[in-house]
Amino acid sequence: MGNVIAFCEFTGANLRTSALSNLAFARQAAQHHGGNVVALLVGAGAQAASAHAAKFAPTVVVVDDAKLANYLAETYAPIVATVAKANDASVVSATATAVGKDLMPRVAALLDAGMASDIAKVDGKDTFVRPILAGNAYSTVQISTPTIVVTPRQSEFEAAAELPSAGTVTTAAAGDVNAAGAEFVRLDAQKSDRPELTDAKVVVSGGRGMKTGENFKVLEELADLLGAAMGASRAATDAGMVPADWQVGQTGKIVAPNLYFAVAISGAIQHLAGMKGSKTIVAINKNKDEPIFQVADYGVVAEWEKAVPELISEIKKLKASR
Ligand SMILES: Cc1cc2nc3c(=O)[nH]c(=O)nc-3n(C[C@H](O)[C@H](O)[C@H](O)COP(=O)(O)OP(=O)(O)OC[C@H]3O[C@@H](n4cnc5c(N)ncnc54)[C@H](O)[C@@H]3O)c2cc1C
Repeated sequence: MGNVIAFCEFTGANLRTSALSNLAFARQAAQHHGGNVVALLVGAGAQAASAHAAKFAPTVVVVDDAKLANYLAETYAPIVATVAKANDASVVSATATAVGKDLMPRVAALLDAGMASDIAKVDGKDTFVRPILAGNAYSTVQISTPTIVVTPRQSEFEAAAELPSAGTVTTAAAGDVNAAGAEFVRLDAQKSDRPELTDAKVVVSGGRGMKTGENFKVLEELADLLGAAMGASRAATDAGMVPADWQVGQTGKIVAPNLYFAVAISGAIQHLAGMKGSKTIVAINKNKDEPIFQVADYGVVAEWEKAVPELISEIKKLKASR
């Protein structure tokens, strides 16, 4: 019997949406291991999000220390490993976000644990299904070490529902915070009032067919009307039309919003790998034969120059009539 330690990312007083998928995974894993789910919050200000975490996990461990203000895998990994050992963990997980992918291999090394990354399904106590070849095939992997480290894909695990009663919150000390030679220099982040791409319920993405960065303004107008995050294909980010952190796909962010707009995106397999878990997909493309229409729930065969302004105008009318 072992517990499942779910490393949870948070923002302010709330867990990130991606963390709720990790907790959903952790519940499934805990059933196989017979233990409890322990949500682990690490970082300066982590205490603020503990009440939210306790709605989803029977135990919450908080490591809140000013020295952890800037995320570094070098400083966070020993803490995750120490908490895992102290809590009899047989599974340690974090959502396969940029942080999760950076942190967990190091945690696995510290715990001498085998790791299954980017998993899509729990198939038993030590057996997991994960996509390979850009999602064209799935492989089943079995981990043979006593402790297992996993990064589940957000798009494959529906956000955990709240528990009937809140869990208990305990704290643990950060101990020596040693960056092991690494140094945090600065964070260059795009400031935006829009939701985080991986947390957003609606995402509006544009592709190479938008032609210029300037043309993305019309998509931004649509996004702001819908309270959506902005995304893009790699062709658009590589061409410098929009920031690189908008990229959705195999080598970008994996998203699974309720509503995903793919505008002037062909639907290459590497793009689909990042968004095909979206609940409803709307594609706007001038070429009816593009693969994006194979995954779209609603397809509009049209030039975006005509379709998107019309859509914006209809949404505005609808909003005004309410
Ligand atoms: C290892 C690897 C990793 C990759 N990772 C990613 C990834 O993470 N994310 C990703 O997106 N890609 C990724 N790619 C790139 C991917 O293979 C495609 O090249 C890319 O997704 C294409 O982007 P696109 O659909 O915007 O461009 P295109 O394929 O050029 O499609 C443009 C689309 O716009 C449409 N269009 C043009 N004009 C208009 C108009 N006026 N109105 C309406 N529609 C119009 C066209 O019909 C076309 O469908 C990766 C590739 C490799 C090899």
